[in-house]
Amino acid sequence: MNFNDKVVIVTGSSSGIGAAIAIEFSALGANVCLVGRNQKKLDEVAKKCNNPLVLVADVTQDKDIQRIVNETVRYFGKLDILVNNAGMGSSASIKSETAMAVFDKIMNTNLRSVVYLTHLAAPHIIKTKGNIINISSVLGLRVLMADSFAYNTSKAGLDHFTRSVAAELASDGVRVNSVNPGPVFTDILENSGANEAIQKAIFDKMKQGTALNRISEPSEIADLVIFLASDKARAITGSVYVSDNGYLIKTA
Ligand code: NDP
Repeated sequence: MNFNDKVVIVTGSSSGIGAAIAIEFSALGANVCLVGRNQKKLDEVAKKCNNPLVLVADVTQDKDIQRIVNETVRYFGKLDILVNNAGMGSSASIKSETAMAVFDKIMNTNLRSVVYLTHLAAPHIIKTKGNIINISSVLGLRVLMADSFAYNTSKAGLDHFTRSVAAELASDGVRVNSVNPGPVFTDILENSGANEAIQKAIFDKMKQGTALNRISEPSEIADLVIFLASDKARAITGSVYVSDNGYLIKTA
């Protein structure tokens, strides 16, 4: 499998799953555009990629989203694959005073940004007959955490967006799929404001909640993304792929 001469945007590639996806695409010959807000972290990931385009950008800002697509196409001349990975977690009760502020922030980051990026990238991806992969979550498929309504809703919406856009773009020869991870060791809890003790407690609980009693490394999610982006997955569109160590099928 190789992605020689393919141009790939990976949002949220300054850490975790997105970094692993970008590094793996680059190792397989792709030209990658790295996107995140943290320049220092992006520079560290860039060292592990072959001549990437590095864009410091906030996906909740429309101007930044326009810049991500325009600069990638200007720099590399085209766009083949869009990986909508940038996202953040939340824990907020629907009863709390901050419920709506949290909801707006999470929906803007995890869903609205994906819609706008896809809208702007689609004409370019139609030209190359490329594909789009959205990084969702098992929490979009089943409510496994009670205080996570905003995140759960954003990911459920993302899954239906994946199916809707896949249906529309199929006639243009463009595939759209989703990867829905269970627990993966990344900075997501830290970046969502959890202290070290809370992070450990949540990861321990999630590990016990999986049938395989393990948590994934980011590269395991990247492997699935690479498969779905490749021609080996040419028959697959509008699908939601779970990689969760059996989190959804764990019995009591
Ligand atoms: P990390 O916190 O390690 O990475 C999140 C990435 O998203 C970072 O690169 C961050 O970059 C970027 N990001 C967040 N907000 C913005 C923004 N406004 N603009 C631009 N970039 C942004 O978490 P993960 O790697 O775990 O998360 C990646 C995806 O995987 C997310 O969509 C998450 O929901 C999903 N996921 C993760 C699971 C897990 O257990 N880890 C489980 C299921 C799904 P920066 O800080 O530089 O802006």
